Amino acid sequence: MSTVTPSTLTFDGLFARELAEMAIPWRAEAVPDPRLLVLNEPLAAELGFDPAALRSPEGLHLLTGNRLPEGATPVAQAYAGHQFGWFTPRLGDGRAVLLGEVVGGDGRLRDIHLKGSGRTPFARGGDGLAAVGPMLREYVVSEAMHALGIPTTRSLAVVATGQPVYRETELPGAVLTRVASSHLRVGSFQYARATGDVELLRRLADHAITRHYPAAADADNPYLALFEAVIASQASLVAKWMLVGFIHGVMNTDNMTISGETIDYGPCAFMEAFDPATVYSSIDEGGRYAYANQPVVAEWNLARLAEVLLPLIHEDQEQAVPLAVESLEAFRPRYSASWSAGMVGKLGLQTHDDDVTSPVVDGVIAVLQAGRVDYTTFFRRLGAAARGNAEPVRNLFADPAAFEAWAESWLALAPDAAAMDRINPLYIPRNHLVEEALSSAAGGDPGPLERLLEAVTAPYDERPGLERYAAGAPESFGPYRTFCGT
Ligand code: AMP
Ligand code: MG
Repeated sequence: MSTVTPSTLTFDGLFARELAEMAIPWRAEAVPDPRLLVLNEPLAAELGFDPAALRSPEGLHLLTGNRLPEGATPVAQAYAGHQFGWFTPRLGDGRAVLLGEVVGGDGRLRDIHLKGSGRTPFARGGDGLAAVGPMLREYVVSEAMHALGIPTTRSLAVVATGQPVYRETELPGAVLTRVASSHLRVGSFQYARATGDVELLRRLADHAITRHYPAAADADNPYLALFEAVIASQASLVAKWMLVGFIHGVMNTDNMTISGETIDYGPCAFMEAFDPATVYSSIDEGGRYAYANQPVVAEWNLARLAEVLLPLIHEDQEQAVPLAVESLEAFRPRYSASWSAGMVGKLGLQTHDDDVTSPVVDGVIAVLQAGRVDYTTFFRRLGAAARGNAEPVRNLFADPAAFEAWAESWLALAPDAAAMDRINPLYIPRNHLVEEALSSAAGGDPGPLERLLEAVTAPYDERPGLERYAAGAPESFGPYRTFCGT
């Protein structure tokens, strides 16, 4: 494997070593006939991998876990989680293994993780496998999120296994190589706490502090500082989701990271027509994870994190609770400040004076809500309006009167059109385009997937020939549903 993992790039087993109680040594299932579907060359280079070596037969064995790189001690990670509000004390990687950590060319430590690599002791009733479609979907959406400047786990590659996966129908199987600054989740802390071993919980918290929030180690109360750092990261992350219209779809506590990266692209989708109640996930019948609920759910998940951290926050639980509550109270103002600043940017406003910006921000939401126009197209065309061409954005509205009144007050603030074009994406992974790319790829034609990736990985730069990637779904596409656990 020396060509794929040069001597400077050996795998560590940091998590496996420091948190052995939460790591079951495990190997990926053998994949006899791996075939590369997509490789992220820029990410490979960032990690210090040689893309050509990854494409070689040896590389494909690495990307499927068939052969272990230097130093790797692969494990399935244990975690717990609240799923749709219900607590399960033992979830864990049912269909994934953590190969280990690598230090990239930038000096950052990152997890290399295989998803769809076969059953593990956490698989419960599952088959441990993943189908090509959902893994390509995670690849496209996570890379689009990265290009939008949103913290996220990344996708290094998707490799077809040549083995069938049985869902409603027989589907081709695949393994996704996921890259993350760690796979620590709120659910990891819930698991450690549920064991009753406070020293394990403390070791997990220390591990998280070292990896993600080293400054917390110097705080008067490092564990409260850790909690506050996670609050800050999540407030900023969810604000970014809201600003681009991203709907995660399954914000269970096992799907919320400690690092503040977006994780677990299952039934996620980007909102098209503006509607705060938008839900795409077929399993989210109550709308728990609807667009507008995401900040509320994030706060709820952080309250679950607070509960399990209490024994570390103060030895006297009566004193720990008010400390945690006070910290959690920072979530709402932090979220609001991030969101408002982001919206001020989207509108191209050059002042941050709340008295000036608030009415314009409130007004645009009212206009969007009444008009139910395409969220992404609206902001992009607003850039043209800032240049004096209001017709394209006005045309989005069946009844433009309210928009026109709002636009007058907005234009009076002299919005910066060029700044708007750097913030408001033109190309997002629209649902109909993602579906088209996945079904073509499944049929053996990678072209549409390649073009979609080309569009969404440079989302702000308008390019000729990509017009259809900026357009909304045709009416024939109909109501959209996404599925998870596939
Ligand atoms: P998710 O909804 O993808 O976050 O997964 C929730 C839990 O179910 C995690 O513990 C996963 O590892 C597990 N899981 C999902 N799909 C499968 C599968 N096909 N086989 C085994 N475990 C799975
Ligand atoms: Mg998950």
